[in-house]
Amino acid sequence: MLVKNEKIRKPEILKISDHNILPESLDKDASSIAHRLNEAGFEAYIVGGFVRDSILGLKPKDSDVVTNATPEEINKIVPKTRIIGRRFKIVHARAGRRITEISTFRAADKNQTIKSNKGLILRDNNYGTIEQDAFRRDFTINSLYLDMQKMEVLDFTGGYTDLKNRMLKTIGKSSERFREDPVRILRAIRFKSKLDLKFDPEIEKDIHKLCYLLEEIPSGRNYEETLKMFMTGSAEKIFLEMQTYNLTKYLLPQTKNFLSSKKDKRFILNALRDTDQRYRNNQTLTPSFLFSVLLWPALVNKTGPLNFKKIKITKVSRIANFILKKHNENCFIPKRIQQSIKETWELQILLMKIPEKANIALKHKRFRAAYDFLLLREKSGEKLNQIGDWWTKKITKKI
Ligand code: ATP
Ligand code: MG
Repeated sequence: MLVKNEKIRKPEILKISDHNILPESLDKDASSIAHRLNEAGFEAYIVGGFVRDSILGLKPKDSDVVTNATPEEINKIVPKTRIIGRRFKIVHARAGRRITEISTFRAADKNQTIKSNKGLILRDNNYGTIEQDAFRRDFTINSLYLDMQKMEVLDFTGGYTDLKNRMLKTIGKSSERFREDPVRILRAIRFKSKLDLKFDPEIEKDIHKLCYLLEEIPSGRNYEETLKMFMTGSAEKIFLEMQTYNLTKYLLPQTKNFLSSKKDKRFILNALRDTDQRYRNNQTLTPSFLFSVLLWPALVNKTGPLNFKKIKITKVSRIANFILKKHNENCFIPKRIQQSIKETWELQILLMKIPEKANIALKHKRFRAAYDFLLLREKSGEKLNQIGDWWTKKITKKI
């Protein structure tokens, strides 16, 4: 259904010579999903990050598929799929460990979208046409559709020009788009940092004006967004940008309290720089390590330095519970991740007890994370008698 006064707009069609995305760079899973949907008489495109990052010459993270088939139809046509979500019903297609997200074209029909009294979108399952789908997306650069058969990119919102100018613009007024979904503010910061973009002046102004709306975001969604910000290769830049816009307090209020301390800030920035390096090297990254770093200054503030002083593990454990509980009010960390964070912290005490407790520490399943954490503490200036070196020699069997 079309929104009143909305005209059907013809997209600009970009050929390979413009967008430079080669057929061999397509994700096999996305191509095979599109092929099945096409065979069944539906349209299918790749939209979002894949198209945007490929045009910029960057390596895309994943491919999001979009189609005019409904979730139920997709479920019948594409094997190994599962419908998920309530606010947005989408389909996950699994191939081994990889998951491709398939969504149905949606319209931003103002009459059917359920909004809270502050303008926040609560539920949004109004299916629509590709044009409508293009205009309900967040930023123009995220609204480019790749037709994998013709290898053409369809641009309804001017995203291609904005991308070439490295300009981040919302589709429609940013004040309205941020009110509908304040997470778009965090996404704006993420894309700006990750892709080296400039903000449209309106975005700049509206982030300052509307960032208080971030308080309304459900804690589970904040957790997911935090992972996207800090585990996709631009953690350090995003962390600094979050501070520039004074946003840290919404996601990480306990971390924010310690950023005036040079020592704590250095520790966090060192860790985020390592995280970015690991991402570039395709090494594993874990949410538990990330949060054990981000919440460490808050923990130490209550326990006192975790060095050779006598501190009981039970005390660390009790304070860790308190810190995590407080954190969960804004950003809910799943239970098993909370457990790993606690273990990484508690092991810091055991790692001091060398050589007597070395073998117990070594056998612990969280040893590697705790050892990396210890090295990071020393690298950031904590004086721990070079105990990290002792452990490095121990692991490499030099002692
Ligand atoms: P990434 O490389 O991080 O995956 P992405 O742009 O693909 O970046 P996704 O979260 O995978 O981000 O979302 C896919 C697409 O869905 C986006 O490009 C955008 O078009 C649309 N989208 C995602 N979140 C929102 C939102 N909050 N509001 C409007 N559109 C959104
Ligand atoms: Mg994506």
